[in-house]
Amino acid sequence: KMQVGGNGKEENILVLVRLRPLSEKEIAWNEVADWECINSTSILYRNSLQERSGLPTAYTFDRVFSGDNSTREVYEEGTKDIALSVVGGINSTIFAYGQTSSGKTYTMNGITEYAVADIYDYIQRHEERAFVVKFSAMEIYNEVVKDLLNSDNTPLRLLDDPDRGTIIEKLTEETLRDWSHLKELLSICEAQRQIGETSLNETSSRSHQILRLSIESTAREFLGKNNSATLSASVNFVDLAGSERASQSLSVGQRLKEGCHINRSLLTLGTVIRKLSKGRHGHVNYRDSKLTRILQPALGGNGRTTIICTLSPARCHVEQSRNTLLFASCAK
Ligand code: ADP
Ligand code: MG
Repeated sequence: KMQVGGNGKEENILVLVRLRPLSEKEIAWNEVADWECINSTSILYRNSLQERSGLPTAYTFDRVFSGDNSTREVYEEGTKDIALSVVGGINSTIFAYGQTSSGKTYTMNGITEYAVADIYDYIQRHEERAFVVKFSAMEIYNEVVKDLLNSDNTPLRLLDDPDRGTIIEKLTEETLRDWSHLKELLSICEAQRQIGETSLNETSSRSHQILRLSIESTAREFLGKNNSATLSASVNFVDLAGSERASQSLSVGQRLKEGCHINRSLLTLGTVIRKLSKGRHGHVNYRDSKLTRILQPALGGNGRTTIICTLSPARCHVEQSRNTLLFASCAK
């Protein structure tokens, strides 16, 4: 069953927008907040100087969160159901999309933690089933895939398996012992994640990060018997690279090349998402980027997708904010 969006109709993709508060830095620069959430589904651009520009001023989505909403609220209202559907054998993907410093990592880190806690809670309350939880983590940087749980830094190859689709060769899969084991692994990933300096935000990440929890469960009465009663699915938590154009951060040389590759994955994601949002018929260009190849099993089929688009309210970022909302609108 597909999820029900804010307008009550069944949808493939749920699109949420999260506006963060002005940061201390932005306040120190006398930045003005030009964006405002006027209710739970609409966000408004208010800048008296641009009223006559002809650009849209109000945008509507499945759900809009303001700077007053906590990550807990974003999780509970926007992503909890989809994350928990993994225990019932349904694949899902939760993305954070937005320009650097708009709040992608802040949002995804919180959501991942809440989701895993709820998944463990569910497992503990369902002793009639035996669960196996596996964790893997990867980064796509410059269209090169790396294992975030292995420090040897060798690029991983993607292989095509006739039965299982795209496989990431040699990707580490850790069987989780418990919640604290996951915390340990998350801090290894954090340390491994590549950090590229840009003129926009020195700690910004130029890479896409995918954290994946794979869950298999079998009713205990069937354990050890040859049966098909095993449910298995994965949930992917995807923290995308900044959506800003390479040119905006004064990229040169290597940085420009990175920008192109980041855009390849992001552009392909955009076209894949647009295609899926119109129904799942016809050719979908999953194979055009590493990101979409890896996520194909979760995005296609009965997979459920939520995209959280993060925004800075600052006037100086208006162009990027509009681009983000344009992406969000196309995904609906
Ligand atoms: P990104 O990953 O998109 O580059 P971050 O998640 O690193 O952005 O956020 C940039 C800064 O803004 C961080 O210091 C983060 O703690 C802060 N921040 C982001 N979103 C919020 C929010 N909703 N409320 C408060 N602070 C936020
Ligand atoms: Mg980040």
